Amino acid sequence: MTGEAAPVPATPAPAAPVAVRKIGGKPIVVTGDRPTGLLHVGHWVGSLENRVKMQETYHCLFLVADVHLLTTHAEDTSRIREFTRGMVLDWLATGLDPSRAWFYVQSGVPEIFELTLILSMLCTVPRALRVPTLKEKVEEGALGENYSVGLLNYPILMASDILLFHATMVPVGEDQASHLEVTRELARRFNHVYGPHFVEPRIVVGRAPRLMGTDGVRKMSKSLDNHLALAHSPQEFRRRVAGMFTDPKKQRKNDPGRPEVCNVFSYHGTFGTGAAGTGAAGTEEIARDCRSGQLGCVDCKKRLADTFDRVLAPIRERRASYEKDPGAVDAILREGTAKVRDLARGNLAEILDRMGMGSAP
Ligand code: ATP
Ligand code: MG
Repeated sequence: MTGEAAPVPATPAPAAPVAVRKIGGKPIVVTGDRPTGLLHVGHWVGSLENRVKMQETYHCLFLVADVHLLTTHAEDTSRIREFTRGMVLDWLATGLDPSRAWFYVQSGVPEIFELTLILSMLCTVPRALRVPTLKEKVEEGALGENYSVGLLNYPILMASDILLFHATMVPVGEDQASHLEVTRELARRFNHVYGPHFVEPRIVVGRAPRLMGTDGVRKMSKSLDNHLALAHSPQEFRRRVAGMFTDPKKQRKNDPGRPEVCNVFSYHGTFGTGAAGTGAAGTEEIARDCRSGQLGCVDCKKRLADTFDRVLAPIRERRASYEKDPGAVDAILREGTAKVRDLARGNLAEILDRMGMGSAP
């Protein structure tokens, strides 16, 4: 040892910034849903509302995630087209607009799967196993160790959905946060290995990032039948709201209730039962009357059902008008998928070129 100070390691050069890609001058958003059934009010406040707003300033790509559906339902594809049509009607009803955004079917854009395979080379098996939703899905389906490689691949497929189109924003529910983390890591890893190419996308969660189901136990989910579907009739809504879980200690009307533990009470805030719209404002009176035993659960749920009738009226109207033209959804998806596919081809060729692969330009 000479006693000389060790050389100070050079500060790594900051990664070259990657330019944000745009379509028609607007940055890109990608998001979508699995066609497993009708969309529900959890989708609405978790993601659809944000999508409607984002159409103004972003170029939005709205994806029917039918290949993601296979990760848990590969043996039964018989209703995918039916569910797809119903889901796209829900999109249209909530205000997603195919004259501004592109609606497309994942299975119609094979470049997404090509990129999935490439990205899977950059993700270790332990990393994929660490995604918390994998454990949830395995438990939900009582799959034990017999789940598919496809299910393990779920977040990598989602990374491909997003990165292939250089999306910067992803409006989804909170349950997707751990998946988006994988997307961001894969973008970083790709950039590190092959040179700067992807911007790390950001998650945008809605005002109710994880709406509980009518059972009050698990998140609202179309597969769990604890949902209030946007397309349910007003009568079906009332029936489902009437069956909602409330404070178990409030058994009779006059028993004092605890709004802070009541699922129905939290819905009042989310859906705007109070005079001042959504949020806690206007729900103090409901909380007070519940605590004092003046307001019973039956009446409280009736108020919630009335609120739904009010806030869902424009959505129900729009759905009914789109339902009159049964071919419209197929045409929207055909047109959107063709546009997305064109973009995907060019983008994938660039990615392969960045890796020194594909046919040389
Ligand atoms: P499935 O039961 O088939 O998984 P799902 O109801 O969970 O259906 P997905 O298609 O998995 O719906 O999710 C679509 C989008 O809606 C995702 O962005 C997801 O985060 C969001 N989302 C789903 N359920 C909720 C919820 N209860 N609250 C908020 N956002 C939600
Ligand atoms: Mg889900």
